[in-house]
Amino acid sequence: MVTDGHNHTKHFSADAGQSIDELIAQAKQAGFNRIGITEHYEIDYVDDGLNWMFDLDEYNRTFEEWRAKAGDFELLKGIEFGYQTHVAGEIDKVAASIPLDVVLLSVHLFRGKDFYVDRECYQMPAKELHSEYINKMAEMCEKCNNFDVVAHYDYINRYADNKNDFITYEETPKEIDRLFEVMIAKEKALEINTKSIQKHRQGGFTRDLPDAAILNRYRDMGGKFITLGSDSHFPGTFAVCFTEAVEYLKSLGFKETVYFKDHKPHFESL
Ligand SMILES: [Zn+2]
Ligand SMILES: [Zn+2]
Repeated sequence: MVTDGHNHTKHFSADAGQSIDELIAQAKQAGFNRIGITEHYEIDYVDDGLNWMFDLDEYNRTFEEWRAKAGDFELLKGIEFGYQTHVAGEIDKVAASIPLDVVLLSVHLFRGKDFYVDRECYQMPAKELHSEYINKMAEMCEKCNNFDVVAHYDYINRYADNKNDFITYEETPKEIDRLFEVMIAKEKALEINTKSIQKHRQGGFTRDLPDAAILNRYRDMGGKFITLGSDSHFPGTFAVCFTEAVEYLKSLGFKETVYFKDHKPHFESL
């Protein structure tokens, strides 16, 4: 069983609705012996009335309690930072300030707006939208250093009204090459976010995701680290679409994925 390295709990993530006990119970029931917890930490996020940052000391303390209670079941301690250009330095600072197994970087905003709420960006031509979004992720990888994984590169596709508009290598090769060039030089991992796959399936779409040419390009350019994450926030969504994602990776000739412990990659056979 490959590790699900991207999960949230209601204890520290403002938009999550599952407890640590519920999450661990699901994982155990599904035969897992390890999970990654990656709570949201959004610096200077849009003001939506929710608290997107948490007390780091409290996270440290609570995590030790969780670990003591979990026993042999391994908990990887992580954070998911939301990137914006002006908070790059602060992300690196916070990431280095506490002991963590894994740091995820994400772009959740487009021109300062959350496209989960504000759908204005989807009026743009898809190619233009994707180009700007991927360039923002490339900039994130250029400006930040203290991270391990680029999370859900296809996040912007999740909430698009027209799910035929999704990121492909063919559409934006230069932008994807720019992103992969810096990720590979800094030895950062590419996440396959299975919640993105689930959202697509719920919309009735059956094609293979993510785009095979994108995954092949990452590997051909020298990328070695693929992670899997379900991005679960609520009971019943842990490791969603994992079987499909693993079979898909195997069909493309991938042999292993990784999880991070103390920021070091550990390989797992598919
Ligand atoms: Zn995210
Ligand atoms: Zn997440």
